[in-house]
Amino acid sequence: MASSMRVLVTGAGGFIGHHLIRRLKQSGVWVRGADVRHPDYEPSPADDFQLVDLREWEGCLQATRGVDQVYNLAADMGGIGYITAVHARLARDNVLINAHMLEAARVNRVSRFLFSSSACVYAQAKQTEAEVTPLKEEDAHPADPEPGYGWEKLYTEELCRYFYQDHRLETRVARLHNLYGPLGCYDGGREKSVAAICRKVALARDGDEIEIWGDGEQTRSYLYIDDCLDGLTLLMASDYRGPLNLGTERLVTIDHLVDLVSCAAAKRVTRRYDPAKPQGVRGRSSDNTRVRRTLGWDPKISLEEGLARTYAWIAQELRRSGKLSA
Ligand code: NAD
Repeated sequence: MASSMRVLVTGAGGFIGHHLIRRLKQSGVWVRGADVRHPDYEPSPADDFQLVDLREWEGCLQATRGVDQVYNLAADMGGIGYITAVHARLARDNVLINAHMLEAARVNRVSRFLFSSSACVYAQAKQTEAEVTPLKEEDAHPADPEPGYGWEKLYTEELCRYFYQDHRLETRVARLHNLYGPLGCYDGGREKSVAAICRKVALARDGDEIEIWGDGEQTRSYLYIDDCLDGLTLLMASDYRGPLNLGTERLVTIDHLVDLVSCAAAKRVTRRYDPAKPQGVRGRSSDNTRVRRTLGWDPKISLEEGLARTYAWIAQELRRSGKLSA
């Protein structure tokens, strides 16, 4: 990437946005971050950080001024407990952010726009078994996505396509599958399964019981943040305009995830299952055939290694905040 490139990352106060800015800065790029908040755990390395509400047109216009590329990561989002509880506000706010960001990118003559879509766009009827067939990009149609969050993501994928068709704005669409890693939200209601399980295991004593949402047999695949950053930057640089999965093909049950986190923590925990808690689709995994062929991208970090790094960071944060004794 040329060092004269000017890049905007929205959602710069969030998990992926903050990591992405660190990565872009390491490669010598000038970066503007935009978000309604600063990152929680360390200052942003962005050259310019705009505190701005991107639901508003003026905010989007200001953020996209003078930049060549946009990674649009800003969204109201969280784990399954959050996205199943908040439909109207989340879908409305995210549609506003995405529609205004695309139009502002067009007006300010941005050359490339990457949208962070989600595996939640996939048809729910194709995810009813724990032993799910890995999802190919075409499995998003006929449309039957996750209510609220999934519909909003699928609609914005379509908007990206229209902005290329009608205005030749070069759009890229990453369908992200369950990201995890250090510096992510691990408490407070928006955390996702890996972070929630790491926190519960860290706070448990050896032999304690922890609560698991669902029956533990539901399945997912998990992508470590560094692999995601490789995929996002490769996708931005590529000529491919269709949606591409960025996920892993390793399917694990939530129970097995707990085993792996317990192993990273060197603790034994027992489990109390709560089937009344939201668990989303029964099974979900990524088919990486197209992304492998298109970008030559494959995740490199094993789940064991990624969990060890993530657990160590969450345990350290809990100690630092006084919630866990040293
Ligand atoms: P995050 O919640 O950590 O970051 C999102 C950021 O967007 C937050 O810092 C938030 O303050 C900001 N934001 C929300 N509303 C805003 C507004 N009105 N104006 C400006 N900023 C606003 O989430 P993340 O995990 O970093 O996710 C980044 C993107 O990737 C999101 O679009 C998300 O939907 C998508 N995604 C993430 C995952 C995952 O597993 N983390 C999976 C699929 C898709």
